Amino acid sequence: MALSYPDSNVFYRKLRRDYPRIVRGDGCYLYDATGKWYLDAAGGAFVASLGHGNQDVADAIARQARLVAYVNGTAFTHDAVEELASELVALAPGDLDKVYFLSSGSEAVEAALKLARQYWRELGEPNKRKIIALSPSYHGNTMLALSASARANYQSMFGDWLVDVRRIPAPFAYHCECRGLGADCNVCTGAALEEAIVREGSDSIAALIAEPIGGSSTGATVPRPEYWPRVREICNRHRVLFIADEILCGAGRTGTWSALEPFGVVPDIMTLGKGISGGYAPLSAVLAPERIVDVLARGSGSLLHAQTFSHHPVACAAGLATVRHIREHVLVERCSAMGITLHDRLAQLKGLPHVGDVRGRGLLAGIEFVEDVETRTPFPRALGFAEAFTEAAQAAGLVVWPNVGHAPGGRGDLVMVAPPYIVTDEEIDEIVALLVQALEAMLRTIGTGVTR
Ligand code: PLP
Repeated sequence: MALSYPDSNVFYRKLRRDYPRIVRGDGCYLYDATGKWYLDAAGGAFVASLGHGNQDVADAIARQARLVAYVNGTAFTHDAVEELASELVALAPGDLDKVYFLSSGSEAVEAALKLARQYWRELGEPNKRKIIALSPSYHGNTMLALSASARANYQSMFGDWLVDVRRIPAPFAYHCECRGLGADCNVCTGAALEEAIVREGSDSIAALIAEPIGGSSTGATVPRPEYWPRVREICNRHRVLFIADEILCGAGRTGTWSALEPFGVVPDIMTLGKGISGGYAPLSAVLAPERIVDVLARGSGSLLHAQTFSHHPVACAAGLATVRHIREHVLVERCSAMGITLHDRLAQLKGLPHVGDVRGRGLLAGIEFVEDVETRTPFPRALGFAEAFTEAAQAAGLVVWPNVGHAPGGRGDLVMVAPPYIVTDEEIDEIVALLVQALEAMLRTIGTGVTR
Protein backbone atom coordinates (compact mmCIF):
# COMPACT_ATOMS: atom_id res chain seq x y z
CA MET A 1 0.00 0.00 0.00
CA ALA A 2 2.93 2.33 0.65
CA LEU A 3 4.24 4.24 -2.35
CA SER A 4 7.79 5.15 -3.24
CA TYR A 5 9.86 6.62 -6.05
CA PRO A 6 9.67 5.82 -8.97
CA ASP A 7 6.33 3.94 -8.67
CA SER A 8 4.09 6.98 -9.17
CA ASN A 9 4.26 10.36 -10.89
CA VAL A 10 5.00 12.20 -7.66
CA PHE A 11 8.46 13.72 -7.23
CA TYR A 12 8.66 12.79 -3.54
CA ARG A 13 10.41 14.86 -0.89
CA LYS A 14 12.64 11.87 -0.19
CA LEU A 15 13.48 9.55 -3.02
CA ARG A 16 14.64 6.57 -1.00
CA ARG A 17 11.80 5.79 1.41
CA ASP A 18 8.26 4.40 1.41
CA TYR A 19 5.28 6.70 1.89
CA PRO A 20 2.14 5.41 3.63
CA ARG A 21 -0.91 6.85 1.84
CA ILE A 22 -2.83 8.96 4.38
CA VAL A 23 -6.58 8.97 3.76
CA ARG A 24 -7.99 10.74 6.81
CA GLY A 25 -7.13 12.82 9.85
CA ASP A 26 -9.08 13.24 13.08
CA GLY A 27 -7.85 15.30 16.05
CA CYS A 28 -4.28 14.24 16.85
CA TYR A 29 -4.45 11.13 14.65
CA LEU A 30 -3.79 10.33 10.99
CA TYR A 31 -5.01 7.14 9.31
CA ASP A 32 -3.46 5.45 6.29
CA ALA A 33 -5.10 3.36 3.57
CA THR A 34 -4.35 0.12 5.46
CA GLY A 35 -6.14 1.42 8.57
CA LYS A 36 -2.91 1.98 10.53
CA TRP A 37 -3.02 5.05 12.80
CA TYR A 38 -0.30 7.57 13.56
CA LEU A 39 -0.34 9.87 16.58
CA ASP A 40 0.75 13.19 15.05
CA ALA A 41 3.00 14.43 17.84
CA ALA A 42 4.67 17.01 15.60
CA GLY A 43 1.61 18.48 13.87
CA GLY A 44 3.38 17.37 10.66
CA ALA A 45 6.04 20.08 10.74
CA PHE A 46 4.75 22.19 13.71
CA VAL A 47 1.72 23.06 11.58
CA ALA A 48 -1.45 21.25 12.75
CA SER A 49 -2.21 23.56 15.67
CA LEU A 50 -5.90 22.60 15.81
CA GLY A 51 -5.42 18.97 14.90
CA HIS A 52 -6.93 17.29 11.88
CA GLY A 53 -10.51 17.40 10.62
CA ASN A 54 -11.60 20.69 12.21
CA GLN A 55 -15.03 21.38 10.74
CA ASP A 56 -15.10 25.14 11.58
CA VAL A 57 -12.02 25.72 9.45
CA ALA A 58 -13.13 23.37 6.67
CA ASP A 59 -16.49 25.17 6.48
CA ALA A 60 -14.87 28.62 6.45
CA ILE A 61 -12.63 27.58 3.54
CA ALA A 62 -15.57 26.20 1.56
CA ARG A 63 -17.63 29.34 2.26
CA GLN A 64 -14.85 31.64 1.07
CA ALA A 65 -14.14 29.53 -2.04
CA ARG A 66 -17.82 29.76 -2.98
CA LEU A 67 -17.93 33.54 -2.37
CA VAL A 68 -14.69 34.47 -4.10
CA ALA A 69 -11.57 32.30 -4.25
CA TYR A 70 -9.06 34.77 -5.63
CA VAL A 71 -8.50 38.45 -6.24
CA ASN A 72 -5.11 40.03 -6.80
CA GLY A 73 -3.72 41.87 -3.80
CA THR A 74 -2.57 44.82 -5.92
CA ALA A 75 -6.13 45.55 -7.11
CA PHE A 76 -8.59 44.60 -4.34
CA THR A 77 -8.99 43.96 -0.66
CA HIS A 78 -11.59 41.62 0.94
CA ASP A 79 -13.19 40.74 4.28
CA ALA A 80 -11.02 37.70 5.03
CA VAL A 81 -7.72 39.60 4.80
CA GLU A 82 -9.07 42.67 6.65
CA GLU A 83 -10.50 40.62 9.52
CA LEU A 84 -7.48 38.33 9.83
CA ALA A 85 -5.11 41.32 9.95
CA SER A 86 -7.22 42.82 12.77
CA GLU A 87 -7.21 39.52 14.71
CA LEU A 88 -3.43 39.15 14.41
CA VAL A 89 -2.76 42.77 15.37
CA ALA A 90 -4.97 42.41 18.46
CA LEU A 91 -2.81 39.45 19.54
CA ALA A 92 0.57 40.93 18.55
CA PRO A 93 2.94 42.55 21.03
CA GLY A 94 3.63 46.29 21.05
CA ASP A 95 3.07 48.43 17.99
CA LEU A 96 3.05 45.72 15.27
CA ASP A 97 -0.09 46.89 13.50
CA LYS A 98 0.31 46.15 9.77
CA VAL A 99 0.23 42.65 8.31
CA TYR A 100 1.44 41.42 4.89
CA PHE A 101 0.28 37.90 3.99
CA LEU A 102 2.15 35.25 2.01
CA SER A 103 1.95 31.49 1.56
CA SER A 104 5.05 30.01 3.21
CA GLY A 105 7.44 30.76 6.03
CA SER A 106 10.33 31.15 3.61
CA GLU A 107 8.40 33.80 1.68
CA ALA A 108 7.62 35.66 4.91
CA VAL A 109 11.30 35.64 5.89
CA GLU A 110 12.32 36.88 2.42
CA ALA A 111 9.73 39.66 2.69
CA ALA A 112 10.76 40.62 6.24
CA LEU A 113 14.44 40.88 5.25
CA LYS A 114 13.56 42.88 2.13
CA LEU A 115 11.37 45.15 4.23
CA ALA A 116 14.33 45.83 6.54
CA ARG A 117 16.59 46.59 3.57
CA GLN A 118 14.00 48.77 1.86
CA TYR A 119 13.33 50.65 5.11
CA TRP A 120 16.95 51.73 5.55
CA ARG A 121 17.39 52.52 1.83
CA GLU A 122 14.28 54.65 1.73
CA LEU A 123 15.31 56.39 4.95
CA GLY A 124 18.46 57.46 3.11
CA GLU A 125 20.83 54.97 4.80
CA PRO A 126 21.62 52.50 1.99
CA ASN A 127 24.79 51.32 3.72
CA LYS A 128 22.70 49.61 6.42
CA ARG A 129 22.34 46.39 4.46
CA LYS A 130 23.97 43.50 6.35
CA ILE A 131 21.96 40.83 8.11
CA ILE A 132 23.03 39.11 11.32
CA ALA A 133 21.61 35.67 12.17
CA LEU A 134 22.28 33.01 14.76
CA SER A 135 24.20 29.77 14.29
CA PRO A 136 22.67 27.22 14.24
CA SER A 137 19.41 28.57 12.85
CA TYR A 138 16.78 27.87 10.22
CA HIS A 139 14.68 30.50 8.45
CA GLY A 140 13.61 28.74 5.24
CA ASN A 141 14.83 27.32 1.98
CA THR A 142 14.43 30.04 -0.65
CA MET A 143 17.74 31.72 -1.40
CA LEU A 144 17.67 34.73 0.95
CA ALA A 145 16.00 32.73 3.74
CA LEU A 146 18.52 29.92 3.17
CA SER A 147 21.35 32.47 3.33
CA ALA A 148 20.07 33.55 6.74
CA SER A 149 19.90 29.92 7.89
CA ALA A 150 23.04 28.35 9.34
CA ARG A 151 22.41 24.95 7.77
CA ALA A 152 25.37 23.43 5.99
CA ASN A 153 23.41 20.39 4.77
CA TYR A 154 20.87 22.52 2.88
CA GLN A 155 23.42 25.11 1.78
CA SER A 156 26.26 22.98 0.45
CA MET A 157 24.79 22.54 -3.08
CA PHE A 158 24.06 26.24 -3.50
CA GLY A 159 26.87 27.99 -1.63
CA ASP A 160 27.85 30.27 -4.52
CA TRP A 161 24.24 31.47 -4.94
CA LEU A 162 23.82 32.58 -1.35
CA VAL A 163 24.35 36.07 0.05
CA ASP A 164 26.73 36.78 2.88
CA VAL A 165 25.01 36.80 6.29
CA ARG A 166 26.99 37.56 9.46
CA ARG A 167 26.62 35.11 12.31
CA ILE A 168 26.71 35.01 16.06
CA PRO A 169 26.45 31.79 18.08
CA ALA A 170 22.90 30.89 19.14
CA PRO A 171 22.24 30.83 22.89
CA PHE A 172 22.28 27.02 22.87
CA ALA A 173 22.92 26.11 26.50
CA TYR A 174 23.27 22.35 26.01
CA HIS A 175 26.14 22.75 23.53
CA CYS A 176 27.63 25.97 24.92
CA GLU A 177 31.05 25.74 26.56
CA CYS A 178 29.49 27.21 29.72
CA ARG A 179 26.70 24.57 29.61
CA GLY A 180 24.28 27.43 30.02
CA LEU A 181 25.66 28.26 33.47
CA GLY A 182 28.20 31.03 32.76
CA ALA A 183 26.99 34.22 34.43
CA ASP A 184 29.02 36.28 32.00
CA CYS A 185 29.07 33.94 28.99
CA ASN A 186 28.88 36.36 26.08
CA VAL A 187 26.86 33.87 24.00
CA CYS A 188 24.21 33.02 26.59
CA THR A 189 23.80 36.61 27.81
CA GLY A 190 23.52 38.20 24.35
CA ALA A 191 26.76 40.21 24.57
CA ALA A 192 28.06 38.45 21.42
CA LEU A 193 25.63 40.53 19.36
CA GLU A 194 27.22 43.78 20.47
CA GLU A 195 30.69 42.46 19.63
CA ALA A 196 29.52 41.52 16.11
CA ILE A 197 27.83 44.89 15.52
CA VAL A 198 30.89 46.81 16.69
CA ARG A 199 33.14 44.62 14.53
CA GLU A 200 31.03 45.17 11.41
CA GLY A 201 30.16 48.81 12.15
CA SER A 202 26.58 49.54 13.22
CA ASP A 203 26.02 51.82 10.22
CA SER A 204 26.33 48.74 7.98
CA ILE A 205 23.83 46.48 9.79
CA ALA A 206 20.18 46.41 8.72
CA ALA A 207 18.73 43.71 10.93
CA LEU A 208 19.14 40.79 13.26
CA ILE A 209 16.87 37.83 12.49
CA ALA A 210 16.35 35.15 15.14
CA GLU A 211 13.86 32.71 16.61
CA PRO A 212 12.85 33.79 20.16
CA ILE A 213 12.63 30.13 21.21
CA GLY A 214 14.74 27.77 19.16
CA GLY A 215 12.84 25.72 16.62
CA SER A 216 14.32 22.63 15.06
CA SER A 217 17.86 24.13 14.94
CA THR A 218 18.36 24.16 18.70
CA GLY A 219 15.59 21.72 19.57
CA ALA A 220 13.28 24.00 21.59
CA THR A 221 16.04 25.74 23.52
CA VAL A 222 14.65 28.59 25.63
CA PRO A 223 17.21 31.40 26.09
CA ARG A 224 17.82 32.85 29.55
CA PRO A 225 15.32 35.49 30.76
CA GLU A 226 17.85 38.28 30.25
CA TYR A 227 18.80 37.28 26.68
CA TRP A 228 16.13 39.01 24.59
CA PRO A 229 15.94 42.18 26.74
CA ARG A 230 19.71 42.52 26.30
CA VAL A 231 19.45 41.90 22.53
CA ARG A 232 16.62 44.44 22.26
CA GLU A 233 18.65 47.05 24.12
CA ILE A 234 21.71 46.43 21.90
CA CYS A 235 19.57 46.66 18.73
CA ASN A 236 18.05 49.94 19.96
CA ARG A 237 21.41 51.47 20.79
CA HIS A 238 22.93 50.51 17.41
CA ARG A 239 19.77 51.19 15.33
CA VAL A 240 19.49 47.58 14.14
CA LEU A 241 16.04 46.18 13.36
CA PHE A 242 15.13 43.07 15.34
CA ILE A 243 13.17 40.55 13.25
CA ALA A 244 11.58 37.84 15.42
CA ASP A 245 10.97 34.73 13.34
CA GLU A 246 7.99 33.15 15.12
CA ILE A 247 7.00 30.93 12.20
CA LEU A 248 7.59 27.81 14.28
CA CYS A 249 7.43 29.00 17.90
CA GLY A 250 4.64 31.58 17.57
CA ALA A 251 0.84 31.51 17.44
CA GLY A 252 0.42 30.19 20.96
CA ARG A 253 2.43 26.98 20.83
CA THR A 254 4.78 27.91 23.69
CA GLY A 255 1.92 28.97 25.98
CA THR A 256 1.79 32.66 25.05
CA TRP A 257 0.61 33.95 21.67
CA SER A 258 4.06 35.38 20.95
CA ALA A 259 7.03 33.34 22.18
CA LEU A 260 8.77 36.66 23.02
CA GLU A 261 5.98 37.79 25.35
CA PRO A 262 7.44 36.37 28.62
CA PHE A 263 10.72 38.18 27.87
CA GLY A 264 8.87 41.52 27.81
CA VAL A 265 10.37 42.36 24.42
CA VAL A 266 8.75 43.76 21.27
CA PRO A 267 10.48 43.13 17.93
CA ASP A 268 10.49 45.59 15.01
CA ILE A 269 9.23 42.97 12.57
CA MET A 270 7.70 39.56 13.25
CA THR A 271 7.04 36.60 10.97
CA LEU A 272 4.31 34.03 11.55
CA GLY A 273 3.36 30.90 9.59
CA LYS A 274 2.68 27.20 10.17
CA GLY A 275 0.16 27.18 13.08
CA ILE A 276 -1.72 30.37 12.07
CA SER A 277 -3.73 28.40 9.54
CA GLY A 278 -3.25 25.00 11.17
CA GLY A 279 -2.24 23.46 7.84
CA TYR A 280 -5.71 23.97 6.35
CA ALA A 281 -4.18 26.32 3.77
CA PRO A 282 -0.63 27.58 3.16
CA LEU A 283 -0.37 30.93 4.97
CA SER A 284 2.32 33.12 6.51
CA ALA A 285 2.46 36.72 7.68
CA VAL A 286 4.89 39.59 8.20
CA LEU A 287 3.90 42.01 10.97
CA ALA A 288 5.44 45.47 11.10
CA PRO A 289 4.60 48.77 12.79
CA GLU A 290 3.31 51.81 10.94
CA ARG A 291 6.55 53.66 11.79
CA ILE A 292 8.38 51.24 9.44
CA VAL A 293 5.68 50.79 6.78
CA ASP A 294 5.22 54.56 6.62
CA VAL A 295 8.77 54.99 5.31
CA LEU A 296 7.79 52.92 2.26
CA ALA A 297 4.42 54.67 1.99
CA ARG A 298 6.17 58.03 1.77
CA GLY A 299 8.92 56.64 -0.48
CA SER A 300 8.63 53.95 -3.16
CA GLY A 301 4.98 53.24 -2.33
CA SER A 302 5.16 49.46 -1.89
CA LEU A 303 7.08 46.50 -0.50
CA LEU A 304 8.96 45.07 -3.46
CA HIS A 305 7.89 41.51 -2.82
CA ALA A 306 5.15 40.90 -5.38
CA GLN A 307 3.68 37.41 -5.17
CA THR A 308 0.59 36.17 -7.03
CA PHE A 309 -0.91 34.45 -3.97
CA SER A 310 -0.22 37.09 -1.30
CA HIS A 311 -3.31 38.18 0.69
CA HIS A 312 -5.13 35.12 -0.74
CA PRO A 313 -8.86 35.03 0.21
CA VAL A 314 -9.17 31.28 0.87
CA ALA A 315 -5.86 31.10 2.75
CA CYS A 316 -6.85 34.15 4.83
CA ALA A 317 -10.28 32.61 5.53
CA ALA A 318 -8.49 29.47 6.78
CA GLY A 319 -6.23 31.64 8.96
CA LEU A 320 -9.14 33.67 10.28
CA ALA A 321 -11.11 30.56 11.25
CA THR A 322 -8.00 29.02 12.86
CA VAL A 323 -7.05 32.11 14.88
CA ARG A 324 -10.69 32.62 16.00
CA HIS A 325 -10.93 28.96 16.99
CA ILE A 326 -7.72 29.29 19.03
CA ARG A 327 -9.10 32.42 20.75
CA GLU A 328 -12.65 31.14 21.33
CA HIS A 329 -11.48 27.77 22.67
CA VAL A 330 -8.80 29.40 24.87
CA LEU A 331 -6.17 27.19 23.26
CA VAL A 332 -3.12 29.36 24.04
CA GLU A 333 -3.83 28.90 27.75
CA ARG A 334 -4.33 25.20 27.01
CA CYS A 335 -0.84 25.05 25.41
CA SER A 336 0.54 26.48 28.63
CA ALA A 337 -1.34 24.05 30.89
CA MET A 338 -0.81 20.95 28.75
CA GLY A 339 2.81 22.03 28.25
CA ILE A 340 3.39 21.51 31.95
CA THR A 341 1.97 17.98 31.66
CA LEU A 342 4.00 17.30 28.50
CA HIS A 343 7.31 18.35 30.06
CA ASP A 344 6.51 16.56 33.29
CA ARG A 345 5.91 13.27 31.44
CA LEU A 346 8.82 13.74 28.99
CA ALA A 347 11.14 14.13 31.99
CA GLN A 348 10.73 10.33 32.40
CA LEU A 349 12.93 9.93 29.32
CA LYS A 350 15.89 11.63 30.99
CA GLY A 351 17.22 8.49 32.67
CA LEU A 352 17.17 6.42 29.49
CA PRO A 353 20.36 5.58 27.57
CA HIS A 354 21.54 8.25 25.13
CA VAL A 355 18.90 10.80 26.16
CA GLY A 356 21.12 13.84 26.68
CA ASP A 357 18.51 16.52 27.26
CA VAL A 358 14.78 17.18 27.23
CA ARG A 359 13.78 20.84 26.97
CA GLY A 360 11.28 23.37 25.69
CA ARG A 361 8.25 25.40 26.71
CA GLY A 362 4.52 24.83 26.31
CA LEU A 363 3.67 22.32 23.59
CA LEU A 364 7.13 22.55 22.04
CA ALA A 365 9.76 20.07 23.19
CA GLY A 366 13.13 18.85 21.98
CA ILE A 367 14.77 15.55 22.95
CA GLU A 368 18.49 15.46 22.25
CA PHE A 369 20.25 12.12 21.79
CA VAL A 370 23.99 11.76 22.36
CA GLU A 371 26.49 8.92 22.36
CA ASP A 372 27.81 9.87 25.81
CA VAL A 373 25.41 11.58 28.18
CA GLU A 374 28.14 12.65 30.63
CA THR A 375 30.39 14.40 28.12
CA ARG A 376 27.47 15.35 25.80
CA THR A 377 29.37 13.80 22.89
CA PRO A 378 27.10 13.41 19.87
CA PHE A 379 26.78 10.22 17.84
CA PRO A 380 28.86 9.97 14.67
CA ARG A 381 26.73 11.58 11.95
CA ALA A 382 27.10 8.48 9.77
CA LEU A 383 24.86 6.59 12.23
CA GLY A 384 21.90 8.78 11.22
CA PHE A 385 20.42 8.36 14.71
CA ALA A 386 17.70 11.04 14.56
CA GLU A 387 16.52 9.97 11.11
CA ALA A 388 16.44 6.29 12.11
CA PHE A 389 14.64 7.16 15.36
CA THR A 390 12.00 9.09 13.40
CA GLU A 391 11.46 6.11 11.09
CA ALA A 392 11.22 3.77 14.10
CA ALA A 393 8.69 6.14 15.69
CA GLN A 394 6.59 6.26 12.51
CA ALA A 395 6.66 2.46 12.31
CA ALA A 396 5.38 2.40 15.90
CA GLY A 397 2.64 4.92 14.99
CA LEU A 398 4.17 8.20 16.16
CA VAL A 399 5.04 11.29 14.11
CA VAL A 400 8.01 13.31 15.45
CA TRP A 401 10.28 15.83 13.74
CA PRO A 402 14.04 15.09 13.46
CA ASN A 403 16.88 17.57 13.35
CA VAL A 404 20.54 16.88 12.72
CA GLY A 405 23.78 18.80 12.33
CA HIS A 406 23.25 21.35 15.12
CA ALA A 407 26.16 20.18 17.30
CA PRO A 408 29.87 20.92 16.86
CA GLY A 409 31.40 19.27 13.81
CA GLY A 410 28.09 19.01 11.97
CA ARG A 411 26.96 16.25 14.32
CA GLY A 412 23.87 16.31 16.54
CA ASP A 413 20.65 14.29 16.71
CA LEU A 414 17.39 15.47 18.18
CA VAL A 415 13.68 14.96 17.68
CA MET A 416 10.94 17.46 18.36
CA VAL A 417 7.50 16.98 19.84
CA ALA A 418 4.87 19.62 19.03
CA PRO A 419 1.39 18.09 19.23
CA PRO A 420 -1.84 19.88 18.27
CA TYR A 421 -3.10 22.32 20.93
CA ILE A 422 -6.03 19.97 21.63
CA VAL A 423 -3.78 17.11 22.78
CA THR A 424 -5.15 15.29 25.84
CA ASP A 425 -3.52 13.83 28.95
CA GLU A 426 -3.97 10.30 27.62
CA GLU A 427 -2.47 11.25 24.25
CA ILE A 428 0.57 12.72 26.02
CA ASP A 429 1.02 9.41 27.88
CA GLU A 430 0.77 7.61 24.56
CA ILE A 431 3.37 9.93 22.97
CA VAL A 432 5.82 9.15 25.78
CA ALA A 433 5.14 5.39 25.58
CA LEU A 434 5.71 5.41 21.81
CA LEU A 435 8.91 7.48 22.21
CA VAL A 436 10.21 4.82 24.62
CA GLN A 437 9.20 2.11 22.13
CA ALA A 438 11.09 3.89 19.32
CA LEU A 439 14.14 4.33 21.57
CA GLU A 440 14.07 0.63 22.47
CA ALA A 441 14.01 -0.21 18.75
CA MET A 442 17.00 2.09 18.22
CA LEU A 443 18.92 0.61 21.12
CA ARG A 444 18.38 -2.87 19.70
CA THR A 445 19.74 -1.62 16.36
CA ILE A 446 22.86 -0.02 17.84
CA GLY A 447 23.27 -2.79 20.40
CA THR A 448 22.83 -0.89 23.68
CA GLY A 449 20.69 -2.37 26.45
CA VAL A 450 17.76 -0.40 27.87
CA THR A 451 18.19 0.44 31.52
CA ARG A 452 15.90 2.80 33.35
N1 PLP B 1 11.36 30.04 9.82
C1 PLP B 1 11.35 29.05 10.73
C2 PLP B 1 11.73 29.36 12.15
C3 PLP B 1 10.99 27.76 10.36
O1 PLP B 1 11.00 26.76 11.26
C4 PLP B 1 10.65 27.51 9.01
C5 PLP B 1 10.28 26.15 8.57
O2 PLP B 1 10.42 25.18 9.24
C6 PLP B 1 10.68 28.57 8.10
C7 PLP B 1 11.04 29.83 8.54
C8 PLP B 1 10.34 28.34 6.64
O3 PLP B 1 8.99 28.03 6.53
P1 PLP B 1 8.45 27.24 5.24
O4 PLP B 1 8.96 25.85 5.32
O5 PLP B 1 6.95 27.33 5.39
O6 PLP B 1 8.92 27.96 4.04
